[in-house]
Amino acid sequence: MAIRRPRANSAHHLQPRYGDPSNSRSHGDPTDIVGDAFNKLAREQLIPQIANRTRNAISVDRREVFYYSRLRSGSRCTCYDAGEGAPHGLCQICWGTGFPGGFHKYGTETYLFEPSRQWWGVNVQLNPLVGVPPWFALEPDTTFGYIEWDETLHRGQYYGIDSSRFEFRNGDGTVKFEMKMDGYDTAFVPYTEVALKERALNNQGRRLRFRVTMERTTAQDRSPMFLQHWYRLLVNSVEPPLLWVDIPRRNESNVLAEYGAIETFQPIQFVFSDEIQQVNLEDLIIRLFDNTRWKVIESSPNDPQNILTSHDVQARKVFSHEIMWLVPL
Ligand SMILES: [Zn+2]
Repeated sequence: MAIRRPRANSAHHLQPRYGDPSNSRSHGDPTDIVGDAFNKLAREQLIPQIANRTRNAISVDRREVFYYSRLRSGSRCTCYDAGEGAPHGLCQICWGTGFPGGFHKYGTETYLFEPSRQWWGVNVQLNPLVGVPPWFALEPDTTFGYIEWDETLHRGQYYGIDSSRFEFRNGDGTVKFEMKMDGYDTAFVPYTEVALKERALNNQGRRLRFRVTMERTTAQDRSPMFLQHWYRLLVNSVEPPLLWVDIPRRNESNVLAEYGAIETFQPIQFVFSDEIQQVNLEDLIIRLFDNTRWKVIESSPNDPQNILTSHDVQARKVFSHEIMWLVPL
């Protein structure tokens, strides 16, 4: 395992979080030669060693996880209830966070089309009768319609598709999903994950256009419907976007709980390396060896001299009645 260099550029050297407890001199006093020498030693040798030792500790199990940070800003989901001042607790677009997509998966970039986005179409409306959030459906008295939207990818390079989802109902009719990319396709092509991947890998800043066409035989038939489409692109490598974390063994001793015989609220500890900058409350961790979901309830960075070395995270199991149980992986 290569030793990662601490991300010195992202640390705030000039803004100590804690002052000198002795108050004998101001922190970081430039005349303090000994202090400077120590700081330099710490920065260049000791702290990287601490970070490395954390990663190599033998009293822990190293586990692969997927990591999802909860969204805390962005456009508001259509499920948001102004009266209640809260998102819908079971919304399948924002997963109760109020922000479409709900979570950002480490190592990926998510592109999501849902009803709060800009779109245009023919004979299509957002049908609030379906519930919250509303779905796209054919207007009354019509048998054919479509909607379109655009997507411009942020980066020049992607490595593949991590996951994707197209959520629709045929009703009594049919739903057709197509896409095309500027300067690549002369006409719409059927949407498949393979077709999307090919275009994402050859994107080079070109715009993607998507079209969902809905059709029914008579206007009395139940309308086809469409809710959302999303895909996550791999941004680091072609491999699944895994993180390794250390889990102290004493925390994993409850064998029955391991196999789901006992569900417990007892939190366990995960130690994340400096590969991620922040772990926040209500972030989601998927432990892959047993496919369990964990919700972060406490997180503190270890950042001596303001250089991040690791995060100590407490997380508890997510239960099947919680919305986080349903967040797509
Ligand atoms: Zn929502």
